[in-house]
Parts: sequence; C-alpha cells; structure tokens
Amino acid sequence: MRVATTPTQLLEGFPVGPQPTACQHCGDILQEGDRATVFAARPADTDQWAIHRPYCLTCSPDTIRHPTVGCTELLAQCRLGTRADLATQQTRLVVLEPELTDSSPPTNRATDPRAMPVPPR
Ligand SMILES: [Zn+2]
Repeated sequence: MRVATTPTQLLEGFPVGPQPTACQHCGDILQEGDRATVFAARPADTDQWAIHRPYCLTCSPDTIRHPTVGCTELLAQCRLGTRADLATQQTRLVVLEPELTDSSPPTNRATDPRAMPVPPR
C-alpha cells in the first residue's frame, strides 16, 4: 500500500538515533529540546526512509550540497524530543516540528565543486 504524505508529516516523530546522538560534523552531543537539522534520504527503489546525519545548529547546512543520484533527500530544521520504550528502557531522539529547508530529487547530482565533504562517521 502506498500512502501519500508531505515531507514534514513524514519527518514528524521520525527517530534520529539512540541517546546520546552527536552532531555528525563537530561531535557535540544533541539532546532533547535542542534545535537541529536532520538529513533524510530514501533510495528510489525502496519505501524506506532513513535519517543519516543530524547536525547541531552551528553546523547545520542550508542546502543539500552533495545530492546523491538515485536518492530522494530532505533537509529539515527541527526540535529534538525523546520517545521512551518502557519495555527496553531505551529512549530515542525523535524529530519534532520539522521545517523543510531543502530537498533533492533522485535525478539530482552534485555540481558544486565547493561541495562540503561528507564528515567521517
Ligand atoms: Zn555541530
């Protein structure tokens, strides 16, 4: 079944990662209540979205500088909240109130030679 949704609906409540989760660029710890920018991508051949890179506000890119061919990509500012799973006693950071700042269709490719290098994982 396919369900149509907007990017902001899609990202609301989306898990960012286990706590603690660090900014992918500077390594600062991101916590509940922080503002952050998240980068989400979906390969064209699946329905699965994944959030790959949360950034702290200082490191937040304004645009997708490294579009990936074959992936739909979204960049959104948000607040971080937590979702608790009482059964496993784990909390995860989730996206709250996302505001889309950029998006890239699967056909896009990087053309900017000054493109920001992808931070090492
Ligand atoms: Zn940072």
